[in-house]
Amino acid sequence: MQTSAFAAPSSAEPLAPWTFERRAVGPHDVQIKITHCGVCHSDIHATTGDWGANNYPFVPGHEIVGVVSRVGAHVTRYKVGDVAAIGCIVDSCRACEPCAEGEEQLCEKGMTGTYSGIEKETGRPTYGGYSKAIVVNENYVLSVPKALDPSRAAPLLCAGITTYSPLRHWKVGPGQKVGVVGLGGLGHMGVKFAKALGAHVVVFTTSPGKVQAALDLGAHEVVVSSDPAQMKAHKNSFHFILNTVSAPLDLDPYAQLLRRNGVMTLVGAPGEPHTGPNVFTLLMGRRSIAGSPIGGIAETQEMLDFCAEHGIAADIELIPIQAINEAWRRVEKGDIRYRFVIDMSTLAEA
Ligand code: NAP
Ligand code: ZN
Ligand code: ZN
Repeated sequence: MQTSAFAAPSSAEPLAPWTFERRAVGPHDVQIKITHCGVCHSDIHATTGDWGANNYPFVPGHEIVGVVSRVGAHVTRYKVGDVAAIGCIVDSCRACEPCAEGEEQLCEKGMTGTYSGIEKETGRPTYGGYSKAIVVNENYVLSVPKALDPSRAAPLLCAGITTYSPLRHWKVGPGQKVGVVGLGGLGHMGVKFAKALGAHVVVFTTSPGKVQAALDLGAHEVVVSSDPAQMKAHKNSFHFILNTVSAPLDLDPYAQLLRRNGVMTLVGAPGEPHTGPNVFTLLMGRRSIAGSPIGGIAETQEMLDFCAEHGIAADIELIPIQAINEAWRRVEKGDIRYRFVIDMSTLAEA
């Protein structure tokens, strides 16, 4: 099927209209007409080469919501007209231990990314959601609960699951003090989830202008991280810190905020390495630094259902696809509260 899209012709050029071929719908495939696609900072890292080489033309986008427009003969879980979603994973080996345990994001053979992957069926690069339609095996498709507004649900497919999964894995809950570092697309979802799970939530931001906004989102306290006195006041006190920052940082001042046995999990993924922490900061306090990539398919569905149940969704600015290059510049400047979502009805059919 000929599919229209916005693609980067190279790592150095702006996104522009492009048309490519999506694979035919196989017996286990679902075809989705995309209505909304969130704009993740990873789209920018992956396109501009921050994370290394890629295939061009490159179609970003892995926060995809749309309407099922066709299903293969053996598809059982979806029918035409359903509101469905695709996140960052479109395939995995389906046989290794992580896949068997529903942790496809940790597939030992490497998951197939919604972009930056190679499609097993065709051997061609995978193309993401800044496009009119997508074809994916039904096991990697999510169901969007009716209670969720599709535009505000789109960012849940990456920003949502990437913050929900570590909060659940490290068992964040009542009686715990939890830090969220960086108040962007991921960070604002981290605040909503940590609060819904019953934790005492403290936001760390470099932007004094976001202090009131963080409190409005539900944070109990806000620290402007450039102020050493504010940082010092929280030393040795956090059970868990979720670090969403998209740029290299000195991790030591954040590690010092952890209490005994505390964990800081990195989900931000800058192309350049962080510095720190000082080894003695980790030894004294038996503190840990960990990392976490997105989440598995079953857990993504659990997160969507959790959002419907708790009235949680992303705070977004809806844009036409023609505004995408300007939107990326604003993401790079931190000038967005908190996620751009592309209204895909503004993209013409191929
Ligand atoms: P975003 O909306 O741009 O938010 C990043 C936030 O980091 C900014 O709002 C800013 O918060 C803070 N920040 C930016 N530059 C900084 C600097 N130089 N020093 C300190 N803080 C800085 O990005 P996002 O979409 O949330 O993504 C965040 C990161 O997570 C990206 O690197 C992305 O690739 C990565 N990511 C990882 C996964 C995963 O699976 N682990 C999934 C999705 C995204 P303040 O203004 O509050 O300081
Ligand atoms: Zn993402
Ligand atoms: Zn696997």
